[in-house]
Amino acid sequence: MVGDRREAVASRGVGALYVHVPFCAKKCAYCDFASCAIHRGDQRIDEYASAIMRQLGELESCGLLQGCKTAYVGGGTPSLMGADLLGSLVRSIRHHAPLVRELTCEANPDSLDDVTLESLRESCATRISIGVQSLSDDELASLGRLHDSRCAINRARAAVACGLDVSIDLMCAIPYQTSQSWQATLERARGLGVGHVSVYPLELVPNTPLGRRYATCHTPWNNEDVQARRMEVAAHVLGVAGYERYEVASYAISGKQCAHNKAYWTGVPYVGIGHAAAGMLNRRSYELLRQVATQLPALSNETARIRYRITSPWEAILHEPALAAASMWLEFLDEQQALAEDLMLGMRLCEGLGADLIDRAQETFGNGFSRAVDGLLQAGLVERSANRLVPTRRGWLLGNEIYMALWSLAPASTREAEV
Ligand code: SF4
Repeated sequence: MVGDRREAVASRGVGALYVHVPFCAKKCAYCDFASCAIHRGDQRIDEYASAIMRQLGELESCGLLQGCKTAYVGGGTPSLMGADLLGSLVRSIRHHAPLVRELTCEANPDSLDDVTLESLRESCATRISIGVQSLSDDELASLGRLHDSRCAINRARAAVACGLDVSIDLMCAIPYQTSQSWQATLERARGLGVGHVSVYPLELVPNTPLGRRYATCHTPWNNEDVQARRMEVAAHVLGVAGYERYEVASYAISGKQCAHNKAYWTGVPYVGIGHAAAGMLNRRSYELLRQVATQLPALSNETARIRYRITSPWEAILHEPALAAASMWLEFLDEQQALAEDLMLGMRLCEGLGADLIDRAQETFGNGFSRAVDGLLQAGLVERSANRLVPTRRGWLLGNEIYMALWSLAPASTREAEV
């Protein structure tokens, strides 16, 4: 991935592309993601896909995609687009970003039929990420999911049989989950033949149905201790089956790590398009994007990294797909803030911080960095391994303490703008 970063910088483009599809068949009870419920086959899904394909052409025209190595179609529920439309979108990505070698589409079991799987394979998607969440029917019902465990197992197996690299998402610390049911979900999941598993604790968000339902209740199934225990059990059960943990929430068998997600955690510039999509650019890739997104402001000399999020409602993208019409929220990081962010993101990974990053941090932050590292070592949150600094088991569980200590090395406030 360090190689990817160099290649992306050398080509002046980005290393990764994210496309957001903000449509779902129904809102899940816990969801505060950027998605809305819509019927499969609704004409507006076609129009949205056309708009995105047009934007892909714009990104190619300014050279931003020439070194792009990974692409991710996320949501929402991309599989809700159906076989033909999703296949067309994947082919369009392949056309405009020909060097992409890993191309993932997200899917939900209830909308992932055999024809869609075949279409993904034929259009040269390489990977699918399926929102399984649980293999207990009571738990799935409590989350407001449309599938049951039988459907999830059937669809994951069909995706494996189709020849795609398959990842599944699982969720812990959810209503009705017990230590036994969690163990059973993990054991059934590891028997599916998938190469990658992501595991997340449920976050109870206030403005969701689940958040409201439990706002005034005691939720012992979701407290921090339970979350930590569930994550530990996942590490053990998946580890025994050969899934190596490589990031705080990600497990893979050999050769099946997600290159796209690793790009996010290793400072590779990426571009995001579609409603609510995020991107991270260096100065050169920002200047390329600015050739088509002409509303973007000029950079000040101090800016080293630019983060952005598309704030245009999806309906607005249908009516005016040109990137020059997109509304965006922007955040500008200076050299120190970009480096502190790299340190923080690096600590999400099992491999932690390498010598390169440690040397740069030492040069830039001097004693501040030494003190932060000493504090983390003494707290048992990180340890030295060869010439690297890596999170400990305790560090996995208390990641926020590590991230705060490293982020606070840089000046606190970044500059923001809206266009
Ligand atoms: S499928 Fe995912 S994005 Fe869609 S409503 Fe459920 S949790 Fe949200």
